[in-house]
Amino acid sequence: MKQILTIGRYFKSKYKQRVRKIPISLDGFTCPNIDGVVAKGGCTYCKNETFSPSLALLEQSDITMNLTLEKNPILDKQIETLKSQFYNQSSFHKDKFATNKYMIYFQSYSNTYAPYDTLKTLYDEALKLPNVVGLSIGTRTDCVEDSILELLSKYVKNNKDIWLEYGIQSVFNSTLRLINRGHGIEGARELVEKTRKLGIKVCIHLIYGLPKEDSNMMLESLKEVLSWGIDGIKIHPLYIVEGTAMQKMYEAGKYSPISLEDYTNLVVESLKLIPHNVVVQRISAGAHDDSLIAPKWCFDKNIQMCYIRDKLLQNGIVY
Ligand code: SF4
Repeated sequence: MKQILTIGRYFKSKYKQRVRKIPISLDGFTCPNIDGVVAKGGCTYCKNETFSPSLALLEQSDITMNLTLEKNPILDKQIETLKSQFYNQSSFHKDKFATNKYMIYFQSYSNTYAPYDTLKTLYDEALKLPNVVGLSIGTRTDCVEDSILELLSKYVKNNKDIWLEYGIQSVFNSTLRLINRGHGIEGARELVEKTRKLGIKVCIHLIYGLPKEDSNMMLESLKEVLSWGIDGIKIHPLYIVEGTAMQKMYEAGKYSPISLEDYTNLVVESLKLIPHNVVVQRISAGAHDDSLIAPKWCFDKNIQMCYIRDKLLQNGIVY
């Protein structure tokens, strides 16, 4: 049997106890692929409120972050939100699962897309929260300044567990253009290498089932990012939610979602390829509400995971 290094097992072996990632969504954060700096409209499947339910509960102001914003008038509010989301979620996990250590996961939008002072303040505040062992920061490869990498490397030197989660999705530029990703694959490997040289761990996000991709292309993307020497990976199926460009493509009959069987077979093949030291942080995804258009098997992540786990076991893989 091959036992996969899940995020739970990684934390258990490193900290000898349960550690919980606490997802954080902050008002004012956006993405250069949405605000027009790179493109407008975002990736064709993007709807951050569905990806991060806590974002839907936020009261949004008119101020949005970018790399050149001179003053951030909502910084105090962002700090308050960070703290309240942390305390709400950590107390739940402490009471229910006796969890006592946490990693802050800046999840929604692009979390390195803000002025240096704002990012430093928020990261510093996050690391000061009780029993926080580190940060995991979700972002794009085209908005990570060297100054931020240097800042994160200082946290690493102070024994913090620091991860950057880069959304790659596919290594094929034809696909990236089709989904309006707003960047190509050029430079991604170099950025990953530069990040890792500073002691910052890298988790790559891939999506299976993107338009016009076949199984070979999806596995090619996986093999390519593995060749970069990454520390972690998240794989999830493409699902379509209401109000996205993908919905129009799907309803016009120009896109067929991946089936659960095909997705599961790909996950089995993928986990066979992933080395023992790479942390597999996710292999499923979905939207458990009315916003889900297709595929319907992405509605219930528990049923999805039962099916996938069972198939993995039949192939000698323990997830
Ligand atoms: S990079 Fe992320 S936040 Fe930005 S448009 Fe794409 S999916 Fe949305």
